[in-house]
Parts: sequence; structure tokens; C-alpha cells
Amino acid sequence: MSSSELSALSPADLTTFVATQRTAYDALKAKELKLDLTRGKPSAAQLDLSEELLSLPNGHTSAAGTDVRNYGGLEGLPELREIFAELLGVEPSQIIAGGNASLTLMSNTLINALLHGAVDSERPWSQEETIKFVCPVPGYDRHFALLESLGIEMVTVPMTDDGPDPVATAALVKDDPSIKGMWIVPTYANPAGSVCTQEVAAALTSMPTAAPDFKIFWDNAYALHHLTAAETKSADVLSLATAAGNPHRPVIFASTSKITFAGSGVAFLAGSVDTIAWYLKHLSKSSIGPDKVNHLRHVQFFKDAAGVRAHMDKHRAIIAPKFAEVQRALTDGLEGRGIAEWTKPAGGYFVSLDVLDGTASRVVELAKGVGVALTPAGASFPHGDDPRDRNIRLAPTMPPLSEVAAAMEVVVTCVLLAAGEKLTS
Ligand code: PLP
Repeated sequence: MSSSELSALSPADLTTFVATQRTAYDALKAKELKLDLTRGKPSAAQLDLSEELLSLPNGHTSAAGTDVRNYGGLEGLPELREIFAELLGVEPSQIIAGGNASLTLMSNTLINALLHGAVDSERPWSQEETIKFVCPVPGYDRHFALLESLGIEMVTVPMTDDGPDPVATAALVKDDPSIKGMWIVPTYANPAGSVCTQEVAAALTSMPTAAPDFKIFWDNAYALHHLTAAETKSADVLSLATAAGNPHRPVIFASTSKITFAGSGVAFLAGSVDTIAWYLKHLSKSSIGPDKVNHLRHVQFFKDAAGVRAHMDKHRAIIAPKFAEVQRALTDGLEGRGIAEWTKPAGGYFVSLDVLDGTASRVVELAKGVGVALTPAGASFPHGDDPRDRNIRLAPTMPPLSEVAAAMEVVVTCVLLAAGEKLTS
């Protein structure tokens, strides 16, 4: 079959095309596959890179001489904060090290803003009749689920190659005081893979907002997760916001979930010194101190920021071939057909695939029918509702390379078959 646009085929050729794809699909069924491209998790080989952590720390004393086994040090071990301050481009006084999940820090920040007001709020957010967040789409499903669970409404803006659409965002927030914040995954976004440029970050940190306490939830989960030798730098959101006179606007989140152990890493929150004080004030009511033993073993494991970077190179060696396989399969199978577009990320954990409008759910259904689990269509949109039913998030890190290849053969066949069905219906 030549790589021509499907829409250019005659009705007869299109019917033949669908029959060919159905035969290919039935052949896949006979293979009785059981594959999974849904999970944005590190593979066992990646987790093995951090195995040494299980025999650390050596001793139990921090650089300042504190016994890490005991209570205290709510802001986290200074030497670990220093390493990640450097990596995330903030001052050590602007970052705290917490528990194992940045999602918990995001949730706590929202809940504290609702119950007590943010650091610069006139009153608790919960006293407003309606609260809304700007959500760039496609985006991270758990961000949306968290907002939904707290009764925060979501308004969407397009995610562009340079980050959230700054013009659409500015237009929304300038007159609507109920819009209290927005999400950004600035570097190698989930799932779009895009990187928020310094220019877009400057626009978003300086734009006038009707809400005086507007927040940018800057979730830099993939700041260090490069797939190429080029170590793309994240925009310096805190300096930009401070220069624009909005120092408390960004709240930065990150973690080592996809650096060391996804279940036993360390999460970080960064922001203005006042934001940190605000967060710690509320945290002090629910915790006497974080898991500093975990902090210390991470310090001993990495030693310094260069140690983290070197460690990330080892991750890259494991996962880059999987991303290359996804690109190869999509290019070989779908390029030039006029029925699909996909991202070519230079980092992160996902490839975002846009298929023919109205066929994403069908593709996922077809893939399931031959034993390949794909992330539910619409997952990257608030309430799971992709208005064009076209986006599918592919997550190739977890399965071994051979399984990624087998699953991608299925994806390509299902995209072709679903498109053919649609065009002949
Ligand atoms: N933020 C983004 C954008 C993610 O993709 C993920 C995990 O997939 C998380 C946060 C979760 O981070 P953590 O494990 O630190 O809670």
C-alpha cells in the first residue's frame, strides 16, 4: 500500500483499504497479545539504577550534625534542598523537600488555599462562589481529577509547542476573578512533550489577572528527563514572576519519582520565600518533620547535582530506544496518510497521538480487542472529555522494547482501520 492520503482514495480503493486493515487486525487477534502502553511508570530496569538506595544511608547524621532518625526539620534536609535548588533553578531558601509524592504537595497547596487562602489572598478560596483553573489541553489527567474532586471548575486553553497558549490564557484571566490559577507542566509536558519557553513563561507571569492571588502551578515533573543529549533548561519562572511584580504567583513542584523510586522518592515544593513560609505554617499542623532518612540516602546516592544529571543519562540510555521505536512505527505506518499527527518529544514520558477526529475511542476499543491496553481516549482532558475524540496518550517507558514494538504495530493498524471505517461510514 502506498503512503498516500486516505481521503484521496476512491470509494472502491477505500473499501479495499478497510478490508486489508481488517485482515491485518484479525491476524493480530490471533497472536493473543497482552500488552500495556498506559502506564507512565519507570520500568524495572530503570528502578534497578537506584538499587543502591536500598543499602543507604550510611549512618544517620546530616551535614549539620542532626540525627535524621528523629523528628524535626520540617523544610527537609538542607543538603538535599541545595542539590535540587540548583537543578530547579531556585535558591535553597525557596525550596522544601517533602514526602514521596509531588501530587500530595499540589493537593495540600490547593486544600490550604481553599481553607485558609493562599499566601496573598484576601480570604479563603472556598469563600468564593466559584473557583476555576485554566487547564492547558491535552494535559495530565490527575491534575484534572484533583480539581474535580475539590469542586474547582476547569476552563481549557490549547497547549502549543511553546507551552500553554499565552494569548488565550491572558484573555480568560484578565476579567474573571473566579479564575484562581492554572496548571503548567513546563518541561516535556504530559502528554504533549512541549517545553514552555522563557517568552511564554514571561507572558504568563506578567499577565494582568482579575484574581489578585492568581497562582501558576508549575509542575516540573520532567525537568531533568531528557531524551537527547541536549539538556533543555526550564524557564526561570520564579525570577520572571518576581521581575514582573508577581513573586508569589508560581508554585513549583517536582519529585524524584521518575529519577529514583516512583514509590519512595522525594518530592519538592518551591516558590517565593513567603510562599514557603505559608506552606510550612500549614504543614506544621499536620507533620513534625519529613522522612529525613530518605532525604539523607538520596543525598548520599547522588552526592551533588552533577550526580543527578549523570543518573538521568542512564535513564535516557534505557528509554530513548523505546521512544525511537514509537517514532519509527508511527512514521512507517502513518506518515503521509493525512489521518494522524504525533509529538516528537525531546524528553519526558509520553507521546501524544492525534488521530482522525472522532476515532480515538474506536482506536482504543480496537486495541483492547487484540489485547493492547491504551490510555482511555479523552484521559488528557478535563472530565475525560476530548471534544474532538482524537487524542491518545502513549506511554512507552514501562514495557520492554520488544513489547513496545509489538504494541505499536497494533496501534498503527487500529488507527488505520478506525480511520478507514470512519471515511467509509
Ligand atoms: N506531575 C506530572 C506531570 C506527572 O506526569 C506525574 C506522574 O505521572 C506526577 C506529577 C506525579 O508525581 P509524583 O509521583 O511526584 O506524585
